[in-house]
Amino acid sequence: MKMALFKSFFARQMLSTHQAVLSTIRTQSSNLKPDPDAPVEMENPFKKELKQCILCKLNIDPDYKNYRLLSQFQSPYTGRIYPRHITGLCKRKQMQVEQEITKAQDLAYMPYTYKHKIFLKDPKLFDPENPVRSHRF
Ligand SMILES: [Zn+2]
Repeated sequence: MKMALFKSFFARQMLSTHQAVLSTIRTQSSNLKPDPDAPVEMENPFKKELKQCILCKLNIDPDYKNYRLLSQFQSPYTGRIYPRHITGLCKRKQMQVEQEITKAQDLAYMPYTYKHKIFLKDPKLFDPENPVRSHRF
């Protein structure tokens, strides 16, 4: 019992002396002039940038009505939806894009079948964006 009491007293004494030494060091260091060669606190310049896919970065939710966006994730030759290693999307957005493309195809916003490669350079007979009939004036 006596030994334990002594031990606790000794430990408390050691702690208080340690704190006193620390406080004196702190006051001495605060009185000193700032060292110009001291290391400067700064952000880690080698910190890697947080990688985000293009849809997450621009905060875009793929939607079946936005078929122009969705068509960028599909091959113009075969209609195959590009896999993740080509699109560079995260897993969640890639799944959303695939779902929205199939939904757009079901609702006829996007075609199931695509032109054959040899017909891709055919001249346009009609511009659906600007439906003006040709006239002689
Ligand atoms: Zn993403």
